[in-house]
Amino acid sequence: MPGNKLNIYNTLTRKKENFAPLHPPFVGMYVCGPTVYGDAHLGHARPAITFDIVYRYLLYLGYKVRYVRNITDVGHLENDADEGEDKVEKKARLEKLEPMELVHKYAESYHRNMAMLNVKSPSIEPFASGHIIEQIEMIKKILEHGYAYLSNGSVYFDIDKYKKSHTYGQLSGRNTEDVLTQTRELEGQSEKKSPNDFALWKKASPEHIMRWPSPWSDGFPGWHIECSAMSRRYLGEVFDIHGGGMDLLFPHHECEIAQSVGSGGKEPVRYWMHNNMLTINGQKMGKSLNNFITLDALFTGAHPLLEKAYSPMTIRFYMLQGHYRNPIDFSNSALQDAEKALAKLSSAFLLLQELKWEKPDGIVNEIEMKLENFGKECQAAMDDDFNTPRVIAAMFNVIGVVNDFKNKGFKQGVGQEAFENFRKTFTGYYSEVLGLKTEISAGAGGQFNELITAIVQAREKAKLEKDFKLADAVRNVLLQFGELKDTPQGPVFKQK
Ligand code: ZN
Repeated sequence: MPGNKLNIYNTLTRKKENFAPLHPPFVGMYVCGPTVYGDAHLGHARPAITFDIVYRYLLYLGYKVRYVRNITDVGHLENDADEGEDKVEKKARLEKLEPMELVHKYAESYHRNMAMLNVKSPSIEPFASGHIIEQIEMIKKILEHGYAYLSNGSVYFDIDKYKKSHTYGQLSGRNTEDVLTQTRELEGQSEKKSPNDFALWKKASPEHIMRWPSPWSDGFPGWHIECSAMSRRYLGEVFDIHGGGMDLLFPHHECEIAQSVGSGGKEPVRYWMHNNMLTINGQKMGKSLNNFITLDALFTGAHPLLEKAYSPMTIRFYMLQGHYRNPIDFSNSALQDAEKALAKLSSAFLLLQELKWEKPDGIVNEIEMKLENFGKECQAAMDDDFNTPRVIAAMFNVIGVVNDFKNKGFKQGVGQEAFENFRKTFTGYYSEVLGLKTEISAGAGGQFNELITAIVQAREKAKLEKDFKLADAVRNVLLQFGELKDTPQGPVFKQK
């Protein structure tokens, strides 16, 4: 069985557990995707990259993964107490677009940015609005089991009733009393029996555009039900991994468990995984703090807080330098350090691709051991709850050896098998597991390198936007300065 040493920290049990999928070698993984009503921003990048790493490593180990990441395009209201306007509908009104036109526009922005970050596309990307029938069916079942009630055309989940026979709050460790004090609903105005209850179906007001017929009213589903319905639709009643940001632990994921169980099903998830949050210069990201940075702005430097543009791989690499369960802080100095470190690592990677093994005068056991241990250390690190910073540290540990091969040759060296194994392992962890792409040339340095990187990125962006005319024009500019090769690991430029 692949990867029987893999340990995953399970948020539900609060400990690392050996990974044993239900139906090996198949793995079912569901990750809460974005609510698309604006350009993709830094906050979107962290969960996407975190679970991209999980997906990539499982594939690397030989699992067959069905990775489902949804797009929320309906039912996410402005506040979690089920009040306020639908986020998508509100933005559509402001931009004078049809709601689905807006969803298309921002889903494209999200996809383009994720591709630039080299985040693999999931196996299935269901839209909530495309699964209204499944959601209605699930709500019917919850009603049948007595864990929901109808109120004025809307359907609410009855938390107090559910709590009589089930535990609620196990995942987040939060009890409903906390919610009571946090809810800002006005007494007497609510259709809910208790402020803890959450909407499964909301009756639409006359001006509400996104609406569907249901047994209860013309309306729309609550935000939480889509993930329960779509994960069950594509992965079954119980599946292996469910991921998302820590901010979704409560109430979203807690509600998902209650819905799945309350509809007559089992506890739906074997391993709950949550990535930690990110801050910018030590502060939480938010529109009111003026530190809300879109990925497009980050890649072009077009934000007052940015000293310069940062390439997508710099962002990716910086995130991987931290463990996904730790918070991470973005600042110009941290990103510039990451940029330099990545340049060093990329150079070693490119160098390694070009090296030709030569028969050594003698084998140096110490070097052979170091190369062999490298593979073991990378695997041990990833098996330890996807410890990417430890993999990166292992890579930096062998950069010196790679440079010595180049500078001193193979005279005192390693056997061919040891060398080829090492090259394969290094390349595998660099490009398949960590998902790093080369963006720079090994030769160019300093400001010239930055300029070339920016031009190479402009061409990559044009390609993603299918503007091949522009991509070719940019390529012609690059060819004046050197040679450009497209490799599976990304574009590689070599100065003339
Ligand atoms: Zn979700």
